[in-house]
Amino acid sequence: MEALEQFCRSLHRPARRRRSSQPRMWTEKDMLHGETVDAFVCIMQTSGCRWSRRSGCTMCGYYADSIPGVEETQLQEQLEMAAARYQGEPVVKIFTSGSFFDEREVPGEVQRRVLQTFYEQADKVVVETRPSYVPGLDDVADVVPPGKSLSVAMGLESANDRVLEYAVNKGFTFADWEQAAEHVRGAGFEVKTYVLLKPPFLTEEESIQDAVATVDAAAELSHAMSLNPVAIHGNTLVEYLWKRGLYRPPWLWSVAETLKQASQRFSGQLTCDVVAGGKQRGAHNCGDCDAAVLEAIAEFTLQGKRDAFQAVSCNCREEWLDSREIGGFLQG
Ligand code: SF4
Ligand SMILES: [Zn+2]
Repeated sequence: MEALEQFCRSLHRPARRRRSSQPRMWTEKDMLHGETVDAFVCIMQTSGCRWSRRSGCTMCGYYADSIPGVEETQLQEQLEMAAARYQGEPVVKIFTSGSFFDEREVPGEVQRRVLQTFYEQADKVVVETRPSYVPGLDDVADVVPPGKSLSVAMGLESANDRVLEYAVNKGFTFADWEQAAEHVRGAGFEVKTYVLLKPPFLTEEESIQDAVATVDAAAELSHAMSLNPVAIHGNTLVEYLWKRGLYRPPWLWSVAETLKQASQRFSGQLTCDVVAGGKQRGAHNCGDCDAAVLEAIAEFTLQGKRDAFQAVSCNCREEWLDSREIGGFLQG
């Protein structure tokens, strides 16, 4: 829809100016072969997502982390900084706030060097890409050592093309994602699927149903899935609506409910990254129970404790149930 594409683009502000192009790095927990392990995360600063420059998804402000016109030598320097910080964690996640396999964002030679560098010690590397750049994978496939895995993460968000077009402004269809996922699997690699919880214009109940339906639809082609509750990034359509009282990030109860239903439909690794959890800009409850529910979400996903949500309760659950029931009427 052209009007939505243009409006999303009009909300963008120029990327922040930086003195140096230093990657952001940290260590977090992840799962590998059923065990909780350390994962090294590196966010390289590239020229950013090409879709974001043209229009961009309604909830995504990652374009602000990009460096327009970044040179290949700067990307190489970032790789050296990351290699110096890396301590042999078995899982390595290399993110670019865009598409690793987009040659214009990460030149093919840099893609190869990144993978070669980390595969010296890592068992698994995770990269992100939009489906249209997946064919670029074929040019680096030979760098992945036998017995080690490459996970290609794609933000599907929703399996419903109407949600993709009118709520997320994703710029591709479910069929595009399916084709790319088949390509990844055909090359012998893993598909990680990001599922969005509560795009704008959906009620609380609709968003739970849409996320669960997406897990259902994507289960067969996915090795792993991540449920991503919307967090409000600056200068996005979601922020525009939120500031006018027209959008609330999902309840943490909705995150819990979606995870419970999703786990009955998908037997692979199911994670959930609650960005800004418990804050006004992230998935939140009443404030009193947020920490307990976030803890239960971590136990459910990272430790596989399927009864993690039974122990948490709060009076605000009633309010959440009401919002599920009458959200459609309130939204008109
Ligand atoms: S969500 Fe992904 S595809 Fe959409 S604008 Fe952001 S980086 Fe690009
Ligand atoms: Zn509460």
